[in-house]
Amino acid sequence: MNSATWWCSRDSNVRVNRDNFARDITLTRILAIANQKGGVGKTTTCVNLAASLAAMKQRVLLIDLDPQGNATMASGIDKYDIQHSIYDVLVHQLPVQQATLAAGDSGFHVLPANGDLTAAEVEMLSIEHNERRLRLALSSVAGQYDYVLIDCPPSLNMLTVNALAAADGVIIAMQCEYFALEGLAALVRTIEGVAETINSKLQIEGILRTMYDPRNSLTTDVSSQLRAHFGDKVYRTVVPRNVRLAEAPSHGVPAMYYDKNSRGSKAYMALAGEIIRRWEQQAAQQPGHRAVT
Ligand code: ATP
Ligand code: MG
Repeated sequence: MNSATWWCSRDSNVRVNRDNFARDITLTRILAIANQKGGVGKTTTCVNLAASLAAMKQRVLLIDLDPQGNATMASGIDKYDIQHSIYDVLVHQLPVQQATLAAGDSGFHVLPANGDLTAAEVEMLSIEHNERRLRLALSSVAGQYDYVLIDCPPSLNMLTVNALAAADGVIIAMQCEYFALEGLAALVRTIEGVAETINSKLQIEGILRTMYDPRNSLTTDVSSQLRAHFGDKVYRTVVPRNVRLAEAPSHGVPAMYYDKNSRGSKAYMALAGEIIRRWEQQAAQQPGHRAVT
């Protein structure tokens, strides 16, 4: 499907009415999915949330900001066979549109990554305001998407700082396990640091519990500590441990196109609904703006 038609033809059931919506609010929600801890479900969340939001008629761009290129591959794009990538956008200022590809028939767009991105950090050292490169690049596509989701690498490096500098909110993906909270403090400090210096609009969008196993007593303990500290920021939706979510990437599709009835794909649909509802509630509180129902 050509990109021009897939978003012109959408109805506005779950959308914020663009005509009445803010001139002073950016239409595009830019959300970074982050946690410097590896293997907590960031990429799985990014890809499946992108597909779920797209299924709910949202225009979505997924940005793979990890040299591992896992989100690229899981979206059905061969990272070894791409002409341009996020590397060209960050280092050579290639316009975002020129590197963007469709994620098969999954209904969203991908700005892909591969190993080239490893060099970006070094090459960007000599560039002034290098932490704002992504933010600058995204200004050219602002308004063309409802959601931009950024898959961060497992590190608090320059790439992650670029994501935080560009984002409106951070979704922290985390497993409810013993050391999880320890790493969280460093991540929260980084978010606060970026909010104070580069990007005052940045906030924690939500805390997502992944690979959730209610039979594990640690899960309940960590969940209550998260609620005590982050309150409503903790999503009601939890993502269960589900083998379909782990299998889908090897088929190059989000789980909903691999097994739509799996608990994993249903959880990500529920998460997409929760995120849209939260945003509509926020938008409704802005004077002069109303959401379409
Ligand atoms: P990295 O830090 O390396 O980028 P990540 O935080 O992006 O990792 P993922 O790659 O999404 O984490 O997930 C790590 C592994 O766990 C993958 O093999 C993935 O398929 C699997 N996985 C993720 N979420 C789930 C889940 N809810 N149930 C079962 N397996 C999962
Ligand atoms: Mg990842």
